[in-house]
Amino acid sequence: INANEDYAPLLQERKTFVGKNLSISYRQPLKIVKGALQYLYDDKGGTFIDCVNNVSHVGHCHPVVVKAMQRQIATLNTNTRYLNDHLVEFAKALHRTLPSRLSVCYFTNSGSEANDLAIRMSRHFTGRKDVIVLDHAYHGTSTVAIEMSPYKFDGKGGFGQMPYVHKADSPDLYRGPFGYNDPRAGEKYAESVQSILTQNKGKVAAFICETLLGVGGQIPLPDNYLKAVYSHVREAGGVCIADEVQVGFGRVGEKFWGFELQGVEPDIVVLGKPIGNGHPLAAVVVTQEIADAFNNGMEYFNTFGGNPVSMATGRVVLDVIQSEGMQQHALETGNFLMEGLRGLMDKHPVISDVRGHGLFVGAEMVKDRTTKEPAVDEINRVVEKMKERGFLLSTDGPLYNVLKIKPPLVFSRDNAAEMVRCLDEVLSTL
Ligand code: PMP
Repeated sequence: INANEDYAPLLQERKTFVGKNLSISYRQPLKIVKGALQYLYDDKGGTFIDCVNNVSHVGHCHPVVVKAMQRQIATLNTNTRYLNDHLVEFAKALHRTLPSRLSVCYFTNSGSEANDLAIRMSRHFTGRKDVIVLDHAYHGTSTVAIEMSPYKFDGKGGFGQMPYVHKADSPDLYRGPFGYNDPRAGEKYAESVQSILTQNKGKVAAFICETLLGVGGQIPLPDNYLKAVYSHVREAGGVCIADEVQVGFGRVGEKFWGFELQGVEPDIVVLGKPIGNGHPLAAVVVTQEIADAFNNGMEYFNTFGGNPVSMATGRVVLDVIQSEGMQQHALETGNFLMEGLRGLMDKHPVISDVRGHGLFVGAEMVKDRTTKEPAVDEINRVVEKMKERGFLLSTDGPLYNVLKIKPPLVFSRDNAAEMVRCLDEVLSTL
């Protein structure tokens, strides 16, 4: 990192007193000191449009959310061993957004912890241990979540694949064996899950995947994929876990939850990131049967999970999403943005695929559309140059060549138009 001189002491102290494997974005790091909705401000007076933070879902420091949090933190914060209205009110409000059979909530402080709990619950319910995951997936940083994350366990510093974890093929219509023009691609990719189930009869507790693949490359699932997979998994006695940590809460526009795009109902959903708009909050919501199996004599206690401040925060975030019509806005702005990005494809062959739903968008970049060789240097230059123009973007995917765009939902049509215009300029200079 070629840091601005001013930041040298801070960077040095960070390296000394904080773990070195915390990464920093950009060759010239940014020191962000303030946020307001889709905008971030640095200490030099620079203004940036945040195009990647899917945690600040309704916008950085959204005033209605901040007010509700301030009010609650000035009133009470305790654990769940006292009666408190906020806990039940938020659980009920979440339940209203979900299929009726997903009715029992457990609150945690991070998506990792929630996925960890979801896996544990699936094991109690089925009396089995094995889990099927998708190749390249990421489900979190706890020991169990890393075991469920090929992105981590297959990579540097990973312990490799555990014998009770099975990797199914990523249903990637752009790079996989079944493409956009195959109307039965969903069912065909689901065969990979079916064959794991057949080879591990009576052993599989759960299948877990995101309902639109994030770290896996910003990949929308093919039609009928989850219908076929969930049916195979259930037939084999396993449960279906939907990781909605990145996808949920209206971001995909057409629906409130990613699994709804696939016309399925999971047995367990895992929620995180946007749920607290930046406040550390996550949740697992399950069916009554799974909750009953988990109520097995061991108390479930979580010091911070379900505290009144988190619950009041989650509640107000849900209210804001709904009262400000953010799901519909995500749909319209996302479609407008994708149309703009697709419009660049003729002029800039380096953009080879634009995909997504609502404001969960990926643009894949290749050096050559026939070989699909990933354009890693190019994409990194694009991200740096877009930053110089005030747009914060980043990359994702197993080949590090997918531009990821998932801004706070307040990201406007004007922001999208300006982003596409700048991207056109930047791509012209490559
Ligand atoms: N699941 C998915 C799909 C994620 O993207 C992440 C975080 N990137 C997690 C789980 C883990 O969430 P957290 O970082 O809050 O532990």
